[in-house]
Amino acid sequence: MKIILLGAPGVGKGTIAKELVIKYGIPQVSTGDLFRENIQKGTDLGKKAKAYMEKGELVPDDVTVSMLRERISRQDCRKGFILDGFPRTIPQAEALEELTAIDNVINLECPDEIIVMRLSNRRTCSKCGAIYNLVTIPPKEPGKCDKCGGKLVQREDDKEEAIRNRLEVYRKQTSPLVEYYDRKGLLVSIDAARNPDEILVEVVGELGESDAVEEIRSEPDQ
Ligand code: ADP
Ligand code: ZN
Repeated sequence: MKIILLGAPGVGKGTIAKELVIKYGIPQVSTGDLFRENIQKGTDLGKKAKAYMEKGELVPDDVTVSMLRERISRQDCRKGFILDGFPRTIPQAEALEELTAIDNVINLECPDEIIVMRLSNRRTCSKCGAIYNLVTIPPKEPGKCDKCGGKLVQREDDKEEAIRNRLEVYRKQTSPLVEYYDRKGLLVSIDAARNPDEILVEVVGELGESDAVEEIRSEPDQ
């Protein structure tokens, strides 16, 4: 089962992806997370990505595609994966098509005002990556992760200026993918201006308990 989660930044792709990981037992592949890991470790890849990310611009396609290619070739992706934040341009989608066949594209839709509200209130655990929202999903203790006690931080690109830039970049470079996948008959659009539980029910309704899922579950781990 190979799924793409499409949608503007802040629409809730990461939150939904993490639930789908539990439900279907396949990994989340988030190019944003992979870049952030590389920045933290100070790799060459991280150094290349950092300046683009902080401004809310896209990392160049060749860098992004080769990182993605390596990631989905690993063992844990052999039964499928959930792509979160990739592809983000038509050339990335075309490169992906050369690598593998996608089963479903879930397009999460949400008005810009709601997105800006969500992103500016988003806080991320610096230890485990859990996502909070100061208004809608606040941590039990301010500034502290419920799950691991880690410190909650605001991502550099969740600051107002970068948010506006990211939405602009989405409109120009990523939104053409909606039509691209619709034409291929793979797209399902879902109203994401709701709470994550409601969105998840609808996403799972669309993906279903397909044979692919049964296979994933019954196949013993090697
Ligand atoms: P969000 O979806 O909330 O914008 P991500 O964590 O997916 O956040 O991405 C953060 C940043 O990482 C992007 O603004 C961009 O700079 C970079 N990035 C992530 N995925 C890609 C991609 N597929 N192509 C180019 N840049 C990417
Ligand atoms: Zn945590």
